[in-house]
Amino acid sequence: MNEFEAFPADYFNHSGLNRQHVFNLAQLPAAVQKKLAPQTGERQLILFGHAGRRLWEAVQASGVGGEDPIDDYSIQTITTWFAHHAPKRHFRILYPGNQPIALQALGQLAGWHHAAPFMVGIDAEWGSWFAYRAVVISDTNFRPNLAVDRNNPCLSCSAKPCISACPASAMDDGNFALGPCLDYRQQADSSCAHTCLARLACPIGEEHRYAAAQMHHSYSRSLKLIRDFKTRR
Ligand code: SF4
Ligand code: SF4
Repeated sequence: MNEFEAFPADYFNHSGLNRQHVFNLAQLPAAVQKKLAPQTGERQLILFGHAGRRLWEAVQASGVGGEDPIDDYSIQTITTWFAHHAPKRHFRILYPGNQPIALQALGQLAGWHHAAPFMVGIDAEWGSWFAYRAVVISDTNFRPNLAVDRNNPCLSCSAKPCISACPASAMDDGNFALGPCLDYRQQADSSCAHTCLARLACPIGEEHRYAAAQMHHSYSRSLKLIRDFKTRR
């Protein structure tokens, strides 16, 4: 008899949450476990991401609206799966939520994350066209995943067109300068108000590039956060 429950990858792939990684809590680094502060009986962490355009299409088709349609849809999708297929299982959605979660650190443990020069995660299959969507802690017994093993495409990219495409020259000295990027994005005539020209210039995974409406949505949200933060200071 198989000791593991089958992970419903097809369901989540279809929903657009098409990257999933199951961790056994006991196998995570002690510092990560401590920050997660698991409750009695919780033994697994499930990292969900999306890659490519599927999630955005699914969100549009679902009719979920509001200010955070992707977050709301992701929560709804996960909650619905547990309610219909594993009603006796305990789970908590840690992200999206108020608890700070080191998403890129989890992405690194899953093998998803390599830092592109413009400080977005990149991998050889999807390029930079993926993102973290949810983190669930649960008492499930899914088969834990091994970290995917894909090289960092930036290491073999000699032309580095992302760097020259940045109108703020934010990567010109070999490091990412956040200040010039944020300043440029807030300019009235900025070409990066609703996009990132460096990201668009990268050829890796370009067939998975987000649709224009998805780009506009994501970057409008980050621009609003930048402006709100500046106003509060
Ligand atoms: S253009 Fe090259 S260096 Fe820049 S993100 Fe893409 S692969 Fe990495
Ligand atoms: S958003 Fe624009 S300014 Fe910022 S890194 Fe990307 S290309 Fe450069």
